[in-house]
Amino acid sequence: MMNKNLFRKRISRREFCRLCALSGTGLAISPLLMDLLEKSAQASEEKGGKGFINIKEAMFYEKVDNNTIQCHLCPRNCILKNGMRGFCRAREPRNGKHYSLVYANPTAVHIDPIEKKPLFHFLPASTAFSIATAGCNLRCKYCQNWQISQLPPEETSNQYLPPRAVVEAAVKYKCSTIAYTYTEPSIFYEYMLDTAKIAKTSGIKNIYHSNGSLNPNPAEELAQYLDGANIDLKGFSQEFYSKISQGYLDTVLNTIKLLKKKSVQVEITNLIVPPLNDDMKSIRKMCQWIRDEVGRDTPLHFSRFSPTYKLKNLSPTPVKILEEARKIAMRERLQYVYIGNVPGHEGESTYCPRDGKMLIRRIGYKVLENNVVKGKCKFCGTEIAGVWH
Ligand code: SF4
Repeated sequence: MMNKNLFRKRISRREFCRLCALSGTGLAISPLLMDLLEKSAQASEEKGGKGFINIKEAMFYEKVDNNTIQCHLCPRNCILKNGMRGFCRAREPRNGKHYSLVYANPTAVHIDPIEKKPLFHFLPASTAFSIATAGCNLRCKYCQNWQISQLPPEETSNQYLPPRAVVEAAVKYKCSTIAYTYTEPSIFYEYMLDTAKIAKTSGIKNIYHSNGSLNPNPAEELAQYLDGANIDLKGFSQEFYSKISQGYLDTVLNTIKLLKKKSVQVEITNLIVPPLNDDMKSIRKMCQWIRDEVGRDTPLHFSRFSPTYKLKNLSPTPVKILEEARKIAMRERLQYVYIGNVPGHEGESTYCPRDGKMLIRRIGYKVLENNVVKGKCKFCGTEIAGVWH
């Protein structure tokens, strides 16, 4: 994360301009934002810094005996003795109680265009106040944010930002949404849930970008406060999940279904990493599953892989593979299929499923034209799935 410590130290106006450019927000430098940065910097000088931990008793666990608990937040269902760290590196039992070690101590705080999540059918061209803590419950070999997701909070720089402060900042800086993102938000569940509850009462919507590895009970509780979600569907075989991410495909599919059933605006991202998950038969099966189980109006993003972390030996995804996948998805009658990480590609834009006209023209994270009016195609009146106002 280029500017993950935005709030940690006092920065000059010039430095902030540089950070904004790096993060690709394209936001004008606002005196208000400068003000927030300076105030937060002062606060974090008092509380926060490298290895700063803030604990809160965890939800969704049971006592096995005086010395042992079982966590039921995610499908790993870790059984842990006092002092042992969960697989996610962010939870630990102490004296017979289970604790989150990442409550209100984010390591990444940014203002992003919502298109960066990516959410393409959710308040286009709006901004999302985005937060993440250290830790993750998967071990993806191509993780883009491994510098924070694959570390415990003791090894990252964290600032103290309690739920109410997150919401106040989002309101003050006119962000329509708060995004729980970058690492796996499920592992900072209590922080996310408390923030989401306050946001709801302040007219701010909640979105999250998740790997979908969350058990049904916590997913159901969270869904009450979520407005939008982008779920990574990393591949369509358990073999891929086991080998590349140490995850469970079934849980991810169940989370997608559950959120959709709870009327959360769900979009799906599939990062295509040749030669690991670019088998077109498997991609076709995934598209059929999406069509049959959650509906063909569910936006699907095929994203381009760039060599990183433990998969630096592989090449970037050829654009023609992404195009082939998109064609397959469209043949399977999915209505909104996108190509990600290829700025300027026609697959970045939204087209009306009825008349084929371009509705939202995008280049990268920028929206250049929007022809969705009151949730309908301006040209033929067809309803377009999403949250538009
Ligand atoms: S959230 Fe963490 S501690 Fe709990 S089951 Fe998942 S990996 Fe284990």
